[in-house]
Amino acid sequence: MDSLVDAQTEPPLAVLRRVFGYDAFRGEQREIIEHVVAGGDALVLMPTGGGKSLCYQIPALVRPGVAVVVSPLIALMQDQVDALTAVGARAGFLNSTQDLTERRRVEAAFVAGELDLLYLAPEALGSRSTVNLLDRGTIGLFAIDEAHCVAQWGHDFRPDYLALSMLHERWPDVPRIALTATATTATAAEIATRLDLTAARHFVASFDRPNIQYRIVPKREPRKQLLDLLRTEHPGDAGIVYCLSRASVDKTAEFLVRNGITALPYHAGLDAATRAANQQRFLREDGLVMVATIAFGMGIDKPDVRFVAHLDLPKSVEGYYQETGRAGRDGLPSTAWLAYGLQDVVQQRKMIESSDGDLARRRVLAAHLDAMLALCETVDCRRVRLLRYFGQDGSPCGNCDTCLTPPESWDGTVPAQKLLSTVLRLQRERNQKFGAGQCIDILLGRHTDKVKQYDHDSLTVFGIGGELSESEWRGVVRQLLAQGLLAVEGDYGTLVLTPASAEVLSRSRTVSMRREPERPASSSRAAKARSAGTPAVELPAGAEPLFERLRAWRAATAKEQGVPAYVVFHDATLRQIAADPPATLAELSRVNGVGENKLAKYGEQILATLAE
Ligand code: ADP
Ligand code: ZN
Repeated sequence: MDSLVDAQTEPPLAVLRRVFGYDAFRGEQREIIEHVVAGGDALVLMPTGGGKSLCYQIPALVRPGVAVVVSPLIALMQDQVDALTAVGARAGFLNSTQDLTERRRVEAAFVAGELDLLYLAPEALGSRSTVNLLDRGTIGLFAIDEAHCVAQWGHDFRPDYLALSMLHERWPDVPRIALTATATTATAAEIATRLDLTAARHFVASFDRPNIQYRIVPKREPRKQLLDLLRTEHPGDAGIVYCLSRASVDKTAEFLVRNGITALPYHAGLDAATRAANQQRFLREDGLVMVATIAFGMGIDKPDVRFVAHLDLPKSVEGYYQETGRAGRDGLPSTAWLAYGLQDVVQQRKMIESSDGDLARRRVLAAHLDAMLALCETVDCRRVRLLRYFGQDGSPCGNCDTCLTPPESWDGTVPAQKLLSTVLRLQRERNQKFGAGQCIDILLGRHTDKVKQYDHDSLTVFGIGGELSESEWRGVVRQLLAQGLLAVEGDYGTLVLTPASAEVLSRSRTVSMRREPERPASSSRAAKARSAGTPAVELPAGAEPLFERLRAWRAATAKEQGVPAYVVFHDATLRQIAADPPATLAELSRVNGVGENKLAKYGEQILATLAE
């Protein structure tokens, strides 16, 4: 097969249009591509869905030689190669899942310069034989995907990435582009140092994902709340549900299935074959819900994930941003929903306390958790908070729960003092420590068995907290924990005071708290209409059946070819076709996402489906 692009005559924009079928570059894509095509090094920070792939794929096509793409996820290499093949590019991968014949074939193609892109796992570069192989071909470019994996204190550190600094030493003339969707200023600096990219040009896009609606709700009956969300706002949609433990992944998946939702589990406790099969189904079928631990998701480039739900608190803002970022890559409206409660704080503080690692490491974990808690408890726009965390500015977005139904803040100093003095008295007068439940029962003046057993009704604080309900008291405890004015200890999550508690008890410090809105936000019509990049094509009345017919054609075609549906065409492309059906191939070629190769391959079939 011949090269797809004549580098002498075809500029990047022409390649974008002819090969990928898109009209225009997005954001800084053009500058990045021109810089790399000209042989420059680049560090690209761009959110998920921002369009990072094209930043190295177009240079790969335009520059002479083979682009070597380093990616940590071997399970997804096949899909990436399939997607490139579908637009007519020559791509291959080398990894441990291949048999020897296949490997030899790809190696030969690489050496002969018959590939545009070669995908490799980072560990492969640690092997002599791979390095020798690379020496036998002509490398046009190195692309380092998921570059944040090189950051040691980041949340996805992979030791194999550290060895990537050798690329530059061994092949000093080959330009390198490193890309990531996650980076605080500190992580970005670490990536640049470790990959020897400090002299590279840095491209930092806005981390805003305007089409994602962020919502954080108080956790009551999490599974039921989730089911409500899926039924009312996302029926039939594909989505990811994150849980902390394997057990809760299994239980949640079963619960959803029992309630008529097609859901699959994914966690490290399942055998590799089941994990791979479930991932395949999620990528290939429409409208599946994946219930998973955070072991799932990196590199998943399914464009039409409509929601990401967290049933447990993520450990860091970076993690939260990464995980929620998997929603809505196609730019269409999507939901990021998190249910969060007192138990989350107790559990995570406990996990940090009992984690191995030195004090410095535990401090880092605690700082990450504190930032996440601050995001949960904020009365300001969630998006502004998130962006600020990544060192970027924003103004209230109108598309997050705090913007849609603003919570009030209230002066919680007095309740805080009551709760803290209960903890203090138990400790001073009785030499006892208890969890939140018992403290709240005492404040509410409840004569429970446990209260009677410990004679807690004789404490002076007994019954002094009648002004708040039990769930409000839980909110008080949660927020005190979040603000570091109270701490938890031991296996039972008993409450203890912190140095800062004394300031509240001595009235030298006030405590501001968040009151949950009566009616939690749900996506309003206005918010639904928000989208990013490719504007959502509203299906006109009557076009729905046509869209469904196109989807059915796509499902059958994808199945026949053994590729994910989105490799054939994205939803956005099918919507555009259904909304304004083209009558000729020439008209069809003007639809976004219909490039030369797909037009030749599917054009007639699409027109036939429209004519049915
Ligand atoms: P990232 O890797 O940054 O998460 P992708 O490269 O997967 O993002 O791109 C996200 C989506 O946007 C993909 O569906 C891709 O085809 C589409 N896309 C990227 N660039 C453009 C563009 N210039 N015009 C239209 N669609 C684009
Ligand atoms: Zn907002």
